[in-house]
Amino acid sequence: FIVRCRMQQNSNPVSKSGDIVKELEEHCATPVSKLKQIADAMTVEMHAGLASEGGSKLKMLITYVDNLPTRDEQGVYYALDLGGTNFRVLRVQLAGKSGIEYKEFAEVSIPPQLMVGTPEALFDYIAAELNKFISSESEKFRHPSGRQRELGFTFSFPVLQLSIDSGTLIRWTKGFSIQDMVGRDVVAELTKAMDRQGVDMRVSALVNDTVGTLAGGKYDNKDVAVAVILGTGSNAAYVERAQAIPKWHGPHPKSGEMVINMEWGNFKSSHLPLTEYDNSLDAESLNPGEQIFEKMISGMYLGELLRRVLYRMANEVALFGDTVPPKLKTHFILRTPEMSAMHHDTSPDLNVVGEKLKDILEISNTSLSTRKTVVEICNILATRGARLAAAGILGILKKTGRDSFRDGELPNTVIAMDGGLYEHYSEYRNCLENTLNELVGEKLAKHVKLILSNDGSGIGAALLAACHSQYI
Ligand code: BGC
Ligand code: MG
Repeated sequence: FIVRCRMQQNSNPVSKSGDIVKELEEHCATPVSKLKQIADAMTVEMHAGLASEGGSKLKMLITYVDNLPTRDEQGVYYALDLGGTNFRVLRVQLAGKSGIEYKEFAEVSIPPQLMVGTPEALFDYIAAELNKFISSESEKFRHPSGRQRELGFTFSFPVLQLSIDSGTLIRWTKGFSIQDMVGRDVVAELTKAMDRQGVDMRVSALVNDTVGTLAGGKYDNKDVAVAVILGTGSNAAYVERAQAIPKWHGPHPKSGEMVINMEWGNFKSSHLPLTEYDNSLDAESLNPGEQIFEKMISGMYLGELLRRVLYRMANEVALFGDTVPPKLKTHFILRTPEMSAMHHDTSPDLNVVGEKLKDILEISNTSLSTRKTVVEICNILATRGARLAAAGILGILKKTGRDSFRDGELPNTVIAMDGGLYEHYSEYRNCLENTLNELVGEKLAKHVKLILSNDGSGIGAALLAACHSQYI
């Protein structure tokens, strides 16, 4: 043991640490050729998932949303947005062509123990918050008497729907794990909890956050045809031709279209640049073998990947000195917002990096070269994530033919984006946009636009509740 320690001390930590970073960079490489293979693999899986239920790792879920909001919607509607670390309750007053007249919302964090407890505890908590929200309703939202309040429920997990207002949970993702809930109807559970809490409300639409974002985005911009969430988790939804969904045996929608919730977080392909850090993160996660794409690109995991690289370097090349900082052993101690802060540090001494390492990991007096190494790793991981997300978007453009001429013209595609990672991590966002432009080429790039659709998922759910109101 002593000999090994000595050997480590004698070795040159700088060049060794350089080796590990270099290896990471190589293993995370995403040259355009690889990204195009990944985009192609994505389109292949999209076809397979649409062909039959269970035909692919990509669930390609039918959402029962065959019409997006038209701006004829009128009245007061509610939304409840559950899926990350917070949940939101929202109330909007829709005024037809003039759009959204008022909106009010409340945001509540979910106590972590509720994410891994029982369905009743989680839904009772949500219904109780909903009750508080309604009790504090202001004058402007006075509800017409004799009319039940209607709610769009944004539930950001894979759900198998059989109608617009019902659906059973396929599995949990992100930090949630309430086994008793799997296979149960989420609307029925919420409705029961609302009854217990004395909330008189009807769930008229159950939607994924990508679908809400698509609806909210389309309300503002008619060219919106795709929505992507890059937040705690990641996913995409888009408008598909009903004809192109062999597994759909229901009546043909008048619009000829159906929104598909891809659940792209579960995408997997041999082309993905997986590293030892990804493999160990996955193996030790709540859902091993699942959500592999999500684990490479989304906000819940980027900080944890960084921690894993730093932990190895602390052990093998004494990046932080002779002892391994004990805090570095704690899973998920480095969160993506902190990673982002370090990545964006522009001070000459990398003071932000120094402070974060001290505050979070209790590592003091780091050298400039150590801080630079940390930033380099942030950059490698964020770049890989952003470029892979761009490849996913290219896959959708290809599948829908939005990458090529129609009647002699290139179609305009607006992609509604939401999620904290996209909104706040500007290096990630910029890299994603640049990569997408690079992938589609100069000509098409002029016709493809990403827009931030902040809070689109909540508003979109309220809009869809209006479209499916029991009173129309
Ligand atoms: C869920 C999706 C969701 C995405 C973004 C994923 O973990 O499976 O349903 O849309 O996170 O919130
Ligand atoms: Mg969300």
